Amino acid sequence: MPIHSFEKTFDQAVNQTRTVAIIGAGPAGLMAAERIAAAGHAVTVFEQKASVGRKFLMAGKGGLNISHSEPFEDFLQRYDQPDWLKPMLQAFTPSDLRTWVSDLGIETFVGSSGRVFPAEMKAAPLLRAWVARLKASGVQFRLRHHWQGVSKDHTWQFHTPDGEQSYAFDAVVLAMGGASWARLGADGAWRQWLAERNVVTVDFKPSNGGFVVNFSPFIQAHAGEPVKSIVASTVLPDSGKVIEKSGDLIITEQGVEGGVIYALSRHLRDAILQTGQAQLTLDLMPSRSSEQLISLLSKSIGKQTLASFWRRQIGLDGIKATLVREYVPRQKWVDASAVAHTIKNLTIAIDGMRPIDEAISTAGGVSCLAVEKDLMLKQWPGVFCAGEMLDWDAPTGGYLLTACFASGQWAGQGVNEWLSHHANEATS
Ligand SMILES: Cc1cc2nc3c(=O)[nH]c(=O)nc-3n(C[C@H](O)[C@H](O)[C@H](O)COP(=O)(O)OP(=O)(O)OC[C@H]3O[C@@H](n4cnc5c(N)ncnc54)[C@H](O)[C@@H]3O)c2cc1C
Repeated sequence: MPIHSFEKTFDQAVNQTRTVAIIGAGPAGLMAAERIAAAGHAVTVFEQKASVGRKFLMAGKGGLNISHSEPFEDFLQRYDQPDWLKPMLQAFTPSDLRTWVSDLGIETFVGSSGRVFPAEMKAAPLLRAWVARLKASGVQFRLRHHWQGVSKDHTWQFHTPDGEQSYAFDAVVLAMGGASWARLGADGAWRQWLAERNVVTVDFKPSNGGFVVNFSPFIQAHAGEPVKSIVASTVLPDSGKVIEKSGDLIITEQGVEGGVIYALSRHLRDAILQTGQAQLTLDLMPSRSSEQLISLLSKSIGKQTLASFWRRQIGLDGIKATLVREYVPRQKWVDASAVAHTIKNLTIAIDGMRPIDEAISTAGGVSCLAVEKDLMLKQWPGVFCAGEMLDWDAPTGGYLLTACFASGQWAGQGVNEWLSHHANEATS
């Protein structure tokens, strides 16, 4: 098996250039590569797929929500581990991210919800410009290189189309993503190789994914339709605290997903894991009070059908009307109080989570207890981690990518500092 030691040239040795591997060519890994190459080190990005940034490109398909424009303290509180992520996000803020995108020749804009998007909403132009800039700065790419752990002789093992390859490096950044959408590369298989080094990892859990609801065929017939402008809430089993989010959800063949569901997904998931069940309560008409609804629905229905009465009196139709018919007993469809109560408090029993591979992101992975402040593994000097493979969680809204970029640049900075203090050590 050939061993590539990335031998240093005379010039590199004089300039203290070191060899650094980035494993995983997603946003976190590429950001680490950029930071380390800028310090003058020889950086090689290893990626198991035939091309880079596949999940990032997929994120761009529905409109690349790269960050959020809300005040920094509010932004930070969207994460489940704000204290851990704070220094990373302070060192590379959402506003720094927008400047960085702009430096790649792509302007960003703030949508009506405060979310930040690149001008064309796509990831591909950004990724193209970024990879070109990385290559111009000397970053090398080794595609179809699947990292498979470290051998007894302490070299890093890769499965490649040319057979097994072994390499030695001065430092390594692991940025192999979480464990969803495995076909795009983030398969979570890396966990076994870190376990061999006694690195503490946390079980993967789906985040920003769908939930299973045993809806009747009447509701299932609306699969794909949005339930718009609602307030959704759930009660935390431990504290009894109510968590409330405004937005839309989508009815699916299996249950529910979409914006408000993603925003509540961490809480719904944790309730299911703790108690085996979760409840979702919807206010289908947040702009009207119960009293207003009761007053309008108490008018005489006359010769109208129920559907046209509901539509004319309170604007209730489509999927919202179907949901009300489903959740109000038939004999009470003309009872103004019962209908108003259900419109304001439609309580849906959640029967389970959709599979992890369908989730937009995953929680779990390398624990904050396993890394130093600079994201170097405590059990493995010279090896750093970044991005979604770290155990943090956040809703959609640009928070995921911002933390991947920020932790990538933080790990890159950590590598630069570590190399400057450890002149002649290689990772093993
Ligand atoms: C449909 C969808 C839409 C999304 N939309 C958004 C959005 O709008 N906004 C947002 O903030 N986030 C969004 N996300 C989430 C976001 O894309 C991810 O959080 C982000 O890509 C994670 O970045 P990462 O660099 O940590 O990992 P990844 O992007 O997953 O990259 C990890 C890389 O490591 C490689 N790898 C894994 N194992 C190995 C190995 N053993 N050897 C070599 N290489 C390996 C993988 O092939 C992969 O290329 C979306 C995700 C999905 C699926």
